[in-house]
Amino acid sequence: MKRNISILGSTGSIGKQALDVVDKCGFNVVALTANSNVELLEKQARKYNVKYVACNDERSAEELKIKLSDTDIKVLSGIDGICECASLEEADIVLNSVVGMVGLKPTISALKSKKDVALANKETLVAGGQLVMKTAKENNVSLLPVDSEHSAIFQSLQGCASHSQIKKLILTASGGPFFGKSKKDLENVTVEDALNHPNWSMGAKITIDSATMMNKGLELIEASWLFDMKSDDIDILVHRQSIVHSLVEYQDNSIIAQLGLPDMRIPIQYALTYPDRFESPVKSLDLSEIGTLTFEKPDYETFICIDLCKKAIKNGGISPACVNAANETANRLFRERKIKFNQIGEIVSEALINAPDIKEYSLEDVYEINNWADNFVRERIK
Ligand code: MG
Repeated sequence: MKRNISILGSTGSIGKQALDVVDKCGFNVVALTANSNVELLEKQARKYNVKYVACNDERSAEELKIKLSDTDIKVLSGIDGICECASLEEADIVLNSVVGMVGLKPTISALKSKKDVALANKETLVAGGQLVMKTAKENNVSLLPVDSEHSAIFQSLQGCASHSQIKKLILTASGGPFFGKSKKDLENVTVEDALNHPNWSMGAKITIDSATMMNKGLELIEASWLFDMKSDDIDILVHRQSIVHSLVEYQDNSIIAQLGLPDMRIPIQYALTYPDRFESPVKSLDLSEIGTLTFEKPDYETFICIDLCKKAIKNGGISPACVNAANETANRLFRERKIKFNQIGEIVSEALINAPDIKEYSLEDVYEINNWADNFVRERIK
């Protein structure tokens, strides 16, 4: 399949797995971007003989320019450089696997340039859902979910004749490394404990979000935007084996689900080849080997972040962006060992209560609330 693809965040976990899929499916890579991992970006740029690369970090871009000076590869820098890679004439589809709110501008740029976007950057939809969905609609382009749960829902919705036939979405959650623990048990857990995810191999930020279950809350907001569903019609189900990736219940109580081994290359590939399907680098799921699949309710009292996200999306407007931003800072502070695990949810909750309430927002408002929440969290821990 010859498709021209631009990958934003190619040195991260999703980006690297996407390049695995590229190798298998034979796409043509036109651009690659990273924050500051010059060494790997140089290797990737040479291997895929891309036209453009960009580093978000200006100094890294300078370094890369020198390293690639024997090639015709154009080296861009900063958020503008990343946005340029997101809107190239040559690209048919953009994979956005940037981590965090910083992915929002490139998503908007890609959509405005009429590119389909394979979206692995959930913060884009959490922080700017209203803007992103509007921009996609205005430009008549698609957002293809890469997040495994949303890919599962998207796949389970193929063949659905009308939105009114959907009764509810059911997002599965692994429960993370701390499932079954009480709030008290979690008082003194370490960064290492939290980074020890039972099923998925992911980047550090999202692995901590899985431990707090903030990830599932953010995914609920993401699903609500992607599939135009009210938060009350999205359930969360703990499924420790991470084999059933999510489900759709229809009006007749039939439930359709997507299953597979917990490997991100499956949803990445589906987003890039949709509506077609090709052979995968991932091995087949053998259910007889798995044996047992279990399903349980989440513990909302211990993992308060899920309800926080529900509250934010119900309140609407800028509230989800505030939760996202406060969480980005709190998550980082925990990884830097400056706050305790349980404080993540507590501080984000306080940020949400104190945040300004803006219903119709602009991109500038999103950046403003981002700074506000970041300051709020940092002040709060002093
Ligand atoms: Mg997910």
